[in-house]
Amino acid sequence: MPDKEKKKLDLNRREMPKQLPEVRRQNFNEDALGYPEETAIQEALRCLQCRNPKCVAMCPVEIDIPGFIKCIAENDFFGGIRVLKNKNLLPAVCGRVCPQEEQCEKGCILSKKGAPVAIGRLERFLADWEAAQGEPEVPPIPKPTGKKVAVVGGGPAGLTVAGDLIKLGHQITIFEALHEMGGVLIYGIPEFRLPKAIVKREVEYLKKLGVEIITDFVVGKTRTVDSLLQEYDAIFVGSGAGLPWFMEVPGENLNGVYSANEYLTRMNLMKGFLFPQYDTPIKNHQHVAVIGGGNVAMDCARTALRLGAEEVHIIYRRSRQEMPARLEEIENAEEEGVIFDYLTLPVRYIGDENGWVQEIECLKMELGEPDASGRRRPVPIEGSNYIIPMDAVVCAIGNSPNPLIPETTPGLEVGKWGNIKVDEETGKTSKDRVWAGGDVVSGAATVILAMGAGRIAARSIHEYLVG
Ligand code: SF4
Repeated sequence: MPDKEKKKLDLNRREMPKQLPEVRRQNFNEDALGYPEETAIQEALRCLQCRNPKCVAMCPVEIDIPGFIKCIAENDFFGGIRVLKNKNLLPAVCGRVCPQEEQCEKGCILSKKGAPVAIGRLERFLADWEAAQGEPEVPPIPKPTGKKVAVVGGGPAGLTVAGDLIKLGHQITIFEALHEMGGVLIYGIPEFRLPKAIVKREVEYLKKLGVEIITDFVVGKTRTVDSLLQEYDAIFVGSGAGLPWFMEVPGENLNGVYSANEYLTRMNLMKGFLFPQYDTPIKNHQHVAVIGGGNVAMDCARTALRLGAEEVHIIYRRSRQEMPARLEEIENAEEEGVIFDYLTLPVRYIGDENGWVQEIECLKMELGEPDASGRRRPVPIEGSNYIIPMDAVVCAIGNSPNPLIPETTPGLEVGKWGNIKVDEETGKTSKDRVWAGGDVVSGAATVILAMGAGRIAARSIHEYLVG
């Protein structure tokens, strides 16, 4: 194994080819095209194979990062996918949507030189390479333990729990409220960032492992948690954060004002992105304002462009520096022509005589002292109000956990934001035989954090089941 002191540093981080901005803003195909084989090997050769790899320490699901990178560098892609899948059941998803720059790549020793190994791109490369080979390899499953676990919610946390526990011999059933599995991966993230076929492929893999999947089943309505507890030895709740926040300003009930959740669900789940083969239920808006500065706001703005909007604005109350979205997503939106109105706050939506939004009244802001989040607080500039014409507004300022399960499950303790309270070390809730994790506990966060929470809960459920 090369020693990092002896190996010559290669600071040339390989770029991943992408569709050109003027082309991609007119289609819903995936914008980033993935590494070709030769580029992946060159990038993998940059890894120093550190003895104490900080990249692994920063990975919420503890992937053996130098291990799979070494396999790529040695042209052993089968070996690489085995190492990767040992800890991560959703590599094609994580390779695309995880904020690696804040996690593994931030820990990479080469990040100190400004050029961390492109761990996410290499992860994606391996997952896509495996998909191109046809049927994935299925690991041997141990003898059944006879224990049954119900997983509520088919998003990243639930999929991780299901994958981890089935590999330990337990019988797993996932109950998903929608007609498609994947949770936020399906309804929340657009096709151009995470193709639906990739999520379906990862779900198919779980089915091959033996996980039973029941869709169109709303736990809390179809059956309660207590009712399921009569049949299952343990329950994991990973029902996500699907309750959108609004700003509570006048005019939010006008037609043409959407929550990001509604806007993206209409597109992603109701196949608006396949228009004209499918009729999109979204009106063809020409001037769209998206409120917020996170990845969801970028997704909504870029979706609006692809639907044919002439002008799309992101309205954000702080500056570019404080934006919570990934830099890569901000740059993608900028390249595609999204207009950013920084230090701007909408204070009122104004409608026409038919109740459709027509204009937004905004207020200019300036940055004051840092607030509790450490970011500088936006302060309104008195008298700076102005009006901009817009025929659609998408509010992308965040979500809370869905209240259905807490409301229908006696004995389940919740926090002030409606989040289910758990023991951080185990994912155990206040209710006997019930665990929880992902956005329903943390509020809307990242895919990999939800997966990390699922892994912690799966470990604890297994310990309980084997007693
Ligand atoms: S990815 Fe970076 S931190 Fe991890 S082993 Fe390679 S060089 Fe070291």
